[in-house]
Amino acid sequence: MRGPAAYPLPRMAGVLETCEISRILSITAHPDDVDFAAAGTVARWTDAGIEVVYCVVTDGDAGGFDEDFPREEMPALRRAEQVAAAKCVGVHDVRFLGYPDGRVEATLGLRRDLARVIRQVRPDRVLCPSPERSYARIGVGHPDHRAVGSAALDAVYPDARNPFAFPELRERESLAAWTVREVWIAGGPDPDHYVDVTETFPRKIAALRAHESQTGHMEDLTERLRTRLAGVARQAGLPDGRLAEGFRVLDTA
Ligand SMILES: [Zn+2]
Repeated sequence: MRGPAAYPLPRMAGVLETCEISRILSITAHPDDVDFAAAGTVARWTDAGIEVVYCVVTDGDAGGFDEDFPREEMPALRRAEQVAAAKCVGVHDVRFLGYPDGRVEATLGLRRDLARVIRQVRPDRVLCPSPERSYARIGVGHPDHRAVGSAALDAVYPDARNPFAFPELRERESLAAWTVREVWIAGGPDPDHYVDVTETFPRKIAALRAHESQTGHMEDLTERLRTRLAGVARQAGLPDGRLAEGFRVLDTA
C-alpha cells in the first residue's frame, strides 16, 4: 500500500495562478476537439508564456463529410489540420496516439499510453474532456470523448504519479512518476470556472477553420460559436458582449 505522502487524496478545488504553471497538456479524442472546447483559453495560456502540448488519441479517421474523399487519406489530413490549428493558438507540439476513431474505450492500454505522455511532458495542468454525458448538448458527450476523459483522469490519478503503476514505463523507458497538480475538464455538465476569451476569439475561429474537412461546410461557424460562448459568458456573470469558455477545475495535487 502507498501512504498518503505518495499520492494524497485531492484537496479542495482551487485554480493555480498563471505564474505557477510552466506546462499544460491537453488530452483529447479527436482532431478539432480542443479547438471547439478550449482554443480561446489555450491562446491566452500561450500568450502568457505557458508551453502547451496537445495529445490527440485518434486521427479522426471517421470524421469529415465528403463521401468522395478517400478514407485512407483521412488520418493524414486530419493530423495536418490539427497541427495547423495548433499553430493558430501558439501550440507547436502535437502528439497523436493513433487509436481508431469511434471505437475508443478507457482500457488499461490507453491509461498506460496517457500516463506515458504525462510522464514525458510533466505538465502542471491537464486539460481533458468530461467522462460524464451532458444532456444539454449530445455531441459533447461523444463516446470517444467520455472514454478519453475517463482514461485521462485515471492516468492523472493514480497511474502517472504512482511509480509502481505500469512499471514498464519506469524500467524500460526511464519515465519517472509525475504528479499533475490540476485538471481542467471541458464539456462536462457542471462547469465551475470560466475564461474570458473575447480577445482570443478570432484565433479560436482561425483554428477551427484550419479543420477544413470538419468545418468547411459551416458557413455560420463564427456566429454559432459567438452565440454559444456569449451564453457561457452570461453563465459566468460577465458583462454583455463578452465571450467565455467554461471548465470544471479539479485540484489533483
Ligand atoms: Zn470529438
